Amino acid sequence: MNKIEHIGIAVKNIEAANKVYESLLGRTQYKTEKVESEGVTTSFFQLGESKIELLEATNEDSPIAKFIEKRGEGIHHIAFAVDDIEAEVKRLQQEGFIVLNETPKRGADNKWVVFLHPKSANGVLVELCQEIKDK
Ligand code: ZN
Repeated sequence: MNKIEHIGIAVKNIEAANKVYESLLGRTQYKTEKVESEGVTTSFFQLGESKIELLEATNEDSPIAKFIEKRGEGIHHIAFAVDDIEAEVKRLQQEGFIVLNETPKRGADNKWVVFLHPKSANGVLVELCQEIKDK
């Protein structure tokens, strides 16, 4: 693992949350992106070498909608940047972590992503992400 790539925060209303985080961080978000397959709209803020990702549900079956229903708004996941996501998945499985999707899927912000079950990491949903490079 290289660094904390981003911290994902579940929000009810992304426009309202954008304003809050613009005030908090003293900068504007650089990207809004819908990830249809995950049922989310995302908004990204760059902060040094890491990012803040705000996530709003696009439908009520979205994992973000369910998260907010259960726990309210707040930190949803921590994402770590990796160089070789497939090798990391194998390594972590050998270490006993529960991998939610063994095959990396296309996430927001041009990334391959894999999630680990929160049960594996003391209640924290962990995302691994690797930049998608065009070949
Ligand atoms: Zn994320």
